[in-house]
Amino acid sequence: MDRVTKRCSLCNSLAKLEYQNMKGYIENSRFDIYSCTVCEASFADPLKSDEKIYNYIYKQAERVPGYERYFRFSKLAKKVINPLWYLCNAEGVYWSVREALQKNFQEQKNISILEVGSGLGYLTYSLNTAGYKTTGVDISEDAILKAKKYYGDFYEVGNIFKLAEARIKKYDCVIMTEIVEHVEDPRGFIQACLSLLKSGGKLILTTPNKSATPAGTIWQGDIPSVHLWFLAEKSILKMAESLGRRCEFIDFTEYSRMYYTPSRVYSMDEIQSEAPRLSKNGQIFPGREAGRIKSFFFGLKVRYWLSYIRRRLKVKQVSHRTINLCAVLS
Ligand SMILES: [Zn+2]
Repeated sequence: MDRVTKRCSLCNSLAKLEYQNMKGYIENSRFDIYSCTVCEASFADPLKSDEKIYNYIYKQAERVPGYERYFRFSKLAKKVINPLWYLCNAEGVYWSVREALQKNFQEQKNISILEVGSGLGYLTYSLNTAGYKTTGVDISEDAILKAKKYYGDFYEVGNIFKLAEARIKKYDCVIMTEIVEHVEDPRGFIQACLSLLKSGGKLILTTPNKSATPAGTIWQGDIPSVHLWFLAEKSILKMAESLGRRCEFIDFTEYSRMYYTPSRVYSMDEIQSEAPRLSKNGQIFPGREAGRIKSFFFGLKVRYWLSYIRRRLKVKQVSHRTINLCAVLS
């Protein structure tokens, strides 16, 4: 196959070269971006994830732009009575997970949930606090050790493909937030997660939504090789279809009625001006550290009251889509 076309591994259709020589997350790394002509997925070439990047990121999560908020969530979850409520107010991703749980399991909390890619562990902990029996699994020993030490015994180290063989049909629900765009083979990954589900079980996944961006948008979110994929609703639908599964998307209308939802799309020039993010040995470049907001509580309160005012004034830019999608596969 020539250089301008590749095969999309999600739907097996042709993908076209959209952007050449994109500067990657790590100094001196370069990627080409392809976009599938059928399922609209964008993906990086080489399609190769790099484990050491995550070690670099998680060792200094509180200073890495985009990841420092995960660090703050992890601190916050322990300090409040209802951490799930706080997460839902802080970010649409968590709101959509709770929405998907309520929609698919109603008030039933006595279900077994596996959170895949639990990272720092705050969502698993928050779900447990809310009454959902949830186990968090992550490939990173370091992350699991930290999560266990901080929140308790809700976690285990594991590789999803091995787990899928050992625990066929063991769970009512598998949750993965913002994971699938990081993996080399989203279809294989999702297939493994689906095999963990009991019959009638649900896979809830969130990922940045290409369908929420104007036509022709090539890339948003983290640059390769942190994110390797940028998926549209159609990408998830096609994948579900090829796996013989049903797929529904969570409607964000209610969320966007309550909360301000950013819709700004970054140009490739802007995205590239921030690259690379880390030096070859994982250092953050001077001046590129994440800003340190003193009080995350204060930030949340401001967001809550601004949203309250928006609701009262009925200032609405209501949309059923936000920058992230939430799909439920069954
Ligand atoms: Zn495709």
